[in-house]
Amino acid sequence: MTATIIDGKAIAAELRQEVGRGVEELIAAGGPRPGLATVLVGENPASLTYVRMKRKASAEVGIESFGHELSADTSQEKLEKLVQELNDDAAVHGILVQLPLPAGLDEEAVLRTISIEKDVDGFHPINIGRLAQKGREPLFVPCTPAGCITLLKKAGAELEGARAVVVGRSNIVGMPAALLLVKENATVTICHSRTRDLPGVCREADVLIAAIGRPEMIRGDWIKPGAFVIDVGVNRVEDATRKRGYRLVGDVAFEEVKEVAGAITPVPGGVGPMTIACLLGSTLRSAQRSLT
Ligand code: NAP
Repeated sequence: MTATIIDGKAIAAELRQEVGRGVEELIAAGGPRPGLATVLVGENPASLTYVRMKRKASAEVGIESFGHELSADTSQEKLEKLVQELNDDAAVHGILVQLPLPAGLDEEAVLRTISIEKDVDGFHPINIGRLAQKGREPLFVPCTPAGCITLLKKAGAELEGARAVVVGRSNIVGMPAALLLVKENATVTICHSRTRDLPGVCREADVLIAAIGRPEMIRGDWIKPGAFVIDVGVNRVEDATRKRGYRLVGDVAFEEVKEVAGAITPVPGGVGPMTIACLLGSTLRSAQRSLT
């Protein structure tokens, strides 16, 4: 069997177009132009790139972006004060504090300061808490896991009653992905570095989400034939044949797994593009909500 390749790039492009249309409709109906504030502390090169990509993607769909760049030695007080000001700014509908913060800053306290109505990244403890509770709805959910669920649905996965396995339990990907799958009525197992017989657990999965950060760890013989496989991992491996000296691979051994799975996301071009598309969607929804 050769798996269907789930084209995250194309699905994300569709979503961004929908957001662009939504922005136009909102403004035509007398609503505000959606605004996204990005807060970057320090000069982590990956974070700089992510923030730049988020601002560029915002501009392309008509979302106004307000960039705030603070030095790495910014105090907790100054950072929280900025977040408070953004909470009070009517032109800002979403606040994104790029993680990780430099050492010494209390990430949880900063996330708690963001108004839950503007928490487009979905990391506020109240939004995460609601995600974990039956019958409660968060205002926003974390963007990368939300992207995984969208890809599964677009690929035709039947989540209700499915046996789902998530490898990884981080706050930003693994755990919220597992919680979202529970909300979709899947039966979910969360695996991590202490899990016994990881290949055996993965082999039971109708739906497998890998968010580990270990290049090509999940092998072809770990996969149930026909399973839906979502690879969140982005890992650099040395490659002398590439001009930049490395290439990007996922947490899943793509060439092996695609021979067994029913559908699989590539890296790059799978989950990655979905994260920003979902962030834009959340910012639009926040602006729409400000009208009601
Ligand atoms: P993380 O915080 O380092 O978490 C990794 C998780 O994998 C942990 O729960 C860890 O278990 C588990 N793990 C590590 N080694 C393992 C092993 N040998 N067996 C089983 N489980 C193991 O990473 P993250 O932030 O969730 O990111 C995961 C990957 O996704 C990375 O490659 C990252 O670059 C990528 N990512 C991509 C996007 C995107 O938009 N595409 C967004 C975010 C992250 P313990 O909890 O026991 O330590």
